[in-house]
Parts: sequence; structure tokens; C-alpha cells
Amino acid sequence: MKISPNDDCPCGSGLKYKKCCRVLHQGVPAQTPEALMRARYTAYALDRADYIMQTTHPDGPHYQADTAKWKRELEAFTHATRFAGLQILAAAGDTVTFRATLFVKDRDASFTERSLFRQHEGRWKYFGVVV
Ligand SMILES: [Zn+2]
Repeated sequence: MKISPNDDCPCGSGLKYKKCCRVLHQGVPAQTPEALMRARYTAYALDRADYIMQTTHPDGPHYQADTAKWKRELEAFTHATRFAGLQILAAAGDTVTFRATLFVKDRDASFTERSLFRQHEGRWKYFGVVV
């Protein structure tokens, strides 16, 4: 997906992209796990694999040491997927529960997840799914 800075942010905040997740994509640290969750969703929607990789905790199960391979996998996923919306259902402490609406080749692949975030070198990172 391509958007302009004045378009609504894909994360569903109701703010313009330039006032919302773009600030984080440009390097400002997320102040809360919810803010990082939103910025990561928007990064998926905008095919920004680098941001997904940068904000994945290196000790978590989703981190891959082979970043070239990881980037190819992320891009294959984002290119095949239409990201239709994000709802934050709950955000407390270091967890965020969300519903992501997405379609893979017109098949509904929406899901609800409770995600765990942890700090690494002073910044929030996505760690993994809470089971
Ligand atoms: Zn946003």
C-alpha cells in the first residue's frame, strides 16, 4: 500500500499518517506498547519490513538472525496481504490485545492476538504472542 502523509493513518487512530505512525517510522521511540503495536501494523500495511525487523525483540521467537531471508519473508507476506484495519481491544502494562483485519488473496485472514512487548536498550520491542 502507498499513502501520502496527509492520508488517514492505517492504524485506525483517526489521525493523519504524518501525525501518527510516520513519526515512529522516522525513528522516534514508541512511548507505549500500544503506540508500537500501531506503528508495526502500519509498517506491515506500507511494506516497511525494516521497521518490523527493527522493532522485534532479539530474544523473542520471531527474531531471525538471517535478516536478508527474514526481509524476503516479510515482503512476501506484506505484498500478498491487504491490511484492512486495526482495532486495539485492550492495552495494559506490557501487553496489547488487538484485532487485525486482513485478506490474503481475498481470503479473510483476520485474527485477534494478545501480544507481549518488552524493552530492549531503552526501546519497546515486540516480543511475541501471549499464550
Ligand atoms: Zn498510526
